[in-house]
Amino acid sequence: MSHPTFSRYRSETEMLRYLKRLENKDLSLAHAMIPLGSCTMKLNATSEMIPVSWPSFAHLHPFAPRDQVAGYQQMIDELSAFWSKSPAMITFLCSPTRARRGEYAGLVAIRRYQAAQGEGHRDVCLIPSSAHGTNPASAAMVQMKVVVVECDHNGNIDMADLRAKAEQHRDQLSAIMLTYPSTHGVFETSVREACKVVHDNGGQVYIDGANMNAQVGLTRPGDFGGDVSHLNLHKTFCIPHGGGGPGMGPIGVKAHLAPYVSNHVVTPINGVNSDSGAVSAAAFGSASILPISWAYIKMMGARGLREATELAILNANYIAKRLEASFPILYRGQNGTVAHECIIDIRPLKAASGISEEDIAKRLMDYGFHAPTMSFPVPGTLMIEPTESESLYEIDRFCDAMIAIRKEIARVESGEWPLDNNPLVNAPHTQADLMDSDWKRPYDRQLAAFPSAAVQAAKYWPAVNRVDNVFGDRQLICSCPSIDEYRD
Ligand SMILES: *Cc1c(COP(=O)(O)O)cnc(C)c1O
Repeated sequence: MSHPTFSRYRSETEMLRYLKRLENKDLSLAHAMIPLGSCTMKLNATSEMIPVSWPSFAHLHPFAPRDQVAGYQQMIDELSAFWSKSPAMITFLCSPTRARRGEYAGLVAIRRYQAAQGEGHRDVCLIPSSAHGTNPASAAMVQMKVVVVECDHNGNIDMADLRAKAEQHRDQLSAIMLTYPSTHGVFETSVREACKVVHDNGGQVYIDGANMNAQVGLTRPGDFGGDVSHLNLHKTFCIPHGGGGPGMGPIGVKAHLAPYVSNHVVTPINGVNSDSGAVSAAAFGSASILPISWAYIKMMGARGLREATELAILNANYIAKRLEASFPILYRGQNGTVAHECIIDIRPLKAASGISEEDIAKRLMDYGFHAPTMSFPVPGTLMIEPTESESLYEIDRFCDAMIAIRKEIARVESGEWPLDNNPLVNAPHTQADLMDSDWKRPYDRQLAAFPSAAVQAAKYWPAVNRVDNVFGDRQLICSCPSIDEYRD
């Protein structure tokens, strides 16, 4: 730890200033909407967060004796009772600390169940090509063989391909991992049929519940065919997860799987086989952040939760409508609508203008926005998810920025700005760029950093220019001492 950062901040004032400087570089929900699709970056309300710091929640040891954790137990019981209504599952396991851990725990339960039926040889997992990368990774972790199911040109599961692959592997079929609505941002009308095809061929259905924000109060994985499903509490249920964590990915299972979910030696779960090993060291995972989800559910109430879902879907459809004249919407459902997120296709624009999805993402920083999800699940696209937390004002501000950026791209297309020197490829613009006395750009400083009235009123300054992502990924900086140094 020879870097000066580890020795410079030795007084509380210095530490305070250091942390504040770092905070100032961050664009958070306190500045603007974070439209990351599949991430559900909704409001983490202060009133939900405050109890996390109360000693009675924060200072409990994960292995405290059971008679000292009655409060936690009550909270978990109440959450489980709520969840058994929401995704319609019977037994909940709270130990998975992220969705991917929940996927793993759910697949383990499926394998144990199948082994108990004398079907332990079943090891094929069907996964649609639109799935999140965690799905095949989790399947691989439980030694399943992943068979990819193709999507049709509308982004839906290709049912003919699903039928063919389910039948082809019927003697080995263990499960399918399905995301609903899909990561293409569409409620697939064939979801019941897809579940039935898998059940008919001897498999179980794992529902990836990441997109629960489009379901709560409207539909339930347990009703349309799921046997096991996780909840991303750090998405739908308000736990902050900018920067990757911490999270919670509790799973719910139907009655036939309940005896086979993971157990815990210190805190055994009733009705679960006591031989089933744990999937997390702590029985209730990152339990200290559960009060956030509990408070959210209690404050919203059943009606409020349903309304949140409806608004999330409405907001995404509003964006799709406002942007469709500027950017093609890649996938829609049969009725022409999207679910709680929408994918805009940048590939035709890139072919025509040379401007890429990354240029748009970086230019959005000049307009004061965090970029949408880039090139997932489809390369060359942007996936936008507004959530219910955003006002019409903010959504309009975002759409206005996107439409203004489309007009800037037109000026590159027309040849007014060269492809290698325009506000898009030079984005984001820092204060240092603007103050450069040698400004050699075919657009003025005003357009560079203050492209909209909203930004003129309240400016977020990007701290650095464009970072070369690929360079960073390929230049490994190894800080480990060489073996010779150990010898010395
Ligand atoms: C976010 C997400 C995951 C993974 O969730 P983690 O909690 O980060 O493990 C899995 N599937 C989908 C569709 C997601 O959006």
